[in-house]
Amino acid sequence: MENILVSACLMGVPVRYNGKSLGLQPDDLVWLKQRFNLMTFCPEVSAGLPTPRAPAEIKGGEGADVLLGAARVQDNTGVDQTAAFVRGAEQALAFCRAHNIRYAILAEASPSCASSTIYNGRFSGEKIPGQGVTAALLRRHGICVASQHTISVIKAQPGCTE
Ligand code: SF4
Repeated sequence: MENILVSACLMGVPVRYNGKSLGLQPDDLVWLKQRFNLMTFCPEVSAGLPTPRAPAEIKGGEGADVLLGAARVQDNTGVDQTAAFVRGAEQALAFCRAHNIRYAILAEASPSCASSTIYNGRFSGEKIPGQGVTAALLRRHGICVASQHTISVIKAQPGCTE
């Protein structure tokens, strides 16, 4: 059975910045388990960040810009967390390579895992189009990334070209 990467928080592991978790729709979970070996990973915990931790947002761009050195990740206390977020992304990519992973379902709106929407970097609660640092790196290396809201992208495989 093919491996698929899933954000740990989407599998109920309480690793979010606030010490809580998220989840997948029950029917999506059933569909995924019938077709894939689900492998959980949290880039931020892998990078050594604690749980709970201060919420972080991307300032000056989105995940791909962070990888280019053109944007930063900063938490709401003003601490620059860019290095940790890039390290987490690199560790997620290494995990995918080690397990021949071609598909990922990552939690939307996270500065690491977002695949289409991030917060605007001003901690105002407003969202803008963009992807997280891990999602950007995985896509750069050919991995098909969807969120808990766009699992249809995975269901439409091999049509995933993002
Ligand atoms: S980094 Fe990704 S897996 Fe970890 S808590 Fe945030 S959204 Fe979930």
